[in-house]
Amino acid sequence: ELADVPLVITGLSKKYKGSTDRYAVRELSFRVERGQVLGLLGPNGAGKTTTLRMLMGLIRPDAGGIRVFGQAIRPGAPVLSRVGAFVEGAGFLPHLSGRANLESYWAATGRPVEDAHFAEALEIAGLGEALERAVRTYSQGMRQRLAIAQAMLGLPDLLILDEPTNGLDPPQIREMREVMVRYAAAGRTVIVSSHLLAEVEQSCTHLVVMERGQLVVAGPTTEITGAGEQLLVSVEDG
Ligand code: ATP
Repeated sequence: ELADVPLVITGLSKKYKGSTDRYAVRELSFRVERGQVLGLLGPNGAGKTTTLRMLMGLIRPDAGGIRVFGQAIRPGAPVLSRVGAFVEGAGFLPHLSGRANLESYWAATGRPVEDAHFAEALEIAGLGEALERAVRTYSQGMRQRLAIAQAMLGLPDLLILDEPTNGLDPPQIREMREVMVRYAAAGRTVIVSSHLLAEVEQSCTHLVVMERGQLVVAGPTTEITGAGEQLLVSVEDG
C-alpha cells in the first residue's frame, strides 16, 4: 500500500534555468520505507539539496514524480504537514531561551505546548539544560541543533535534514547520529544528506549515493559499505 510508504521518487529530473545545460538532478529514482534512516550521500554539487528541495515542495521538478505517503508533492500539498525539514538559517530570538523560542514557534502553528508531541520531540532532540539558556549564549553548533529540534516539533512522519552536521564539532556530530536513530525508532522516517560517508554510515540504515545529479548506488548501508567501498572512495574524493 503506497499510502504507507514515506517516499517514492521516480525519474526525477531538474535543470536550473540560466545554468549550463547540466542537470542538477537527472532521472533519479529511489524509495524509502518506514523506520529507515536514509543517507543521501554525495560530494558538493551532487544534487542532494536540489533533491530535498523538490521533495519538500519548494521547487518544481522538470520531470518525474514524488509520492510522499502515496500523495503527489506540489507546493502546498496537504501531505506536507507530515513532513518536517531542517534547512540552514532558521532565525531565533536571541534574548529568549531555546525552550521559549521553540514554544513560540509551536504556538504559532496553532498547537498547544501541552501537546505530548512537543515534550517528546524535545526529549528526542536531547538538548538538556541548554534549552533553558538564552539563545544568544549558544554556539553556532547549538543554534543548529535547536533548529533541528524545531523541525522535529510536530513529530513529522518524515523528517528531512539537509546537511545537519555542517558546522557541528565531533561530539555534536555523534549526538546528532543518536538523535536521528532515536527519531526513527518509533517507525518514523529520516532522510539526511551529507558529503561524508563517515558521518552517515553509523546512523543510516540505507544509503543513496549521488554524483553529478545521478544515482550511483542505493541500498542497505551494510551492503554498500561492504561491496561498494571503491565506489564510495571515489565519490568522496570527487
Ligand atoms: P552541496 O553539498 O554543495 O549543497 P548538493 O549535492 O546539495 O551540493 P545541489 O546544491 O543540489 O548539490 O546542486 C546541484 C547542482 O545544481 C550544482 O551544479 C549547483 O551548482 C547547481 N545549482 C544549485 N542551485 C542552483 C540554482 N539556484 N541555480 C542554478 N544552479 C544551481
